[in-house]
Amino acid sequence: MVVNCTEIAVRELFPEALKSYQQRVNNICTCQRCLDDIVALALNYLPPHYVGSERGSIITSVDYQRLGGRTEVFARICQAIKVVYENPRHHIE
Ligand SMILES: [Zn+2]
Repeated sequence: MVVNCTEIAVRELFPEALKSYQQRVNNICTCQRCLDDIVALALNYLPPHYVGSERGSIITSVDYQRLGGRTEVFARICQAIKVVYENPRHHIE
């Protein structure tokens, strides 16, 4: 199978990044649409890194290094959360 390490990394760090952002801003919309937008945006900020893999969706520290490091991935997710939070694609009550 072919997997995009970037996507695995983003999905792995996403809950943590969202939690840390929610400590600063408490009214982030977490509907599926916004969550999908955030993940998609974060993926656009980062380079894709495809590997042919037997190990499925397990990501290693080496994979993170290829993406600029765990901190970089984390920062891009936070950036994506901020963009979606400030410009949600739907009306928020
Ligand atoms: Zn929403």
